[in-house]
Amino acid sequence: MQAFIGLGSNLDNPEQRLISALSALQRLPGVTMLHHSRLFSSAPIGPQDQPDYVNAVAQVAFSSTPHELLHTLQALELAAGRQRLRHWGERTLDLDILLIEGLNIDTPDLQVPHPQMIHRAFVLLPLLDISPHAHLPDGTALSSFLKQVEDQRLSPLAELDCDALIE
Ligand code: ADP
Ligand code: MG
Repeated sequence: MQAFIGLGSNLDNPEQRLISALSALQRLPGVTMLHHSRLFSSAPIGPQDQPDYVNAVAQVAFSSTPHELLHTLQALELAAGRQRLRHWGERTLDLDILLIEGLNIDTPDLQVPHPQMIHRAFVLLPLLDISPHAHLPDGTALSSFLKQVEDQRLSPLAELDCDALIE
């Protein structure tokens, strides 16, 4: 199956965190990296007294179940020293499952499509960067949500050659 994964960090050298997380994703057994976006810088959502975020989206193929993928991503978050400090607060690494092919999943610990994704420029723009025709399971084009996020600040990080940095 294929999935889109959203990556974010705003603590302890976020650019390097994202490069390391993309490398770690690529090395996971049963996971193949198909595409990843450039890195973007975005203003925080929620508490404003925290640093800007660095965000990216990866498209992967995976051979496990969706819940196993979630647990694997949570293990990577923990390995990056993630602690839950406050809701929507600063974090060393956030890995969210955005879409899994045409699936709708609604369980207590996993909702797909990610319920917030259509409201966030830092998810929509990097995702559309690598998959311009991506859509929700009901067929709605993700590009149709761009209008409602146009006031959110997002900028590509200066030509950082992440392919050269990802091992
Ligand atoms: P957020 O990403 O919204 O800032 P967290 O990363 O702290 O919040 O995640 C909180 C919970 O969200 C996790 O414990 C996880 O079980 C749940 N969750 C639900 N759906 C998803 C999803 N699609 N991807 C990642 N986590 C999810
Ligand atoms: Mg999360």
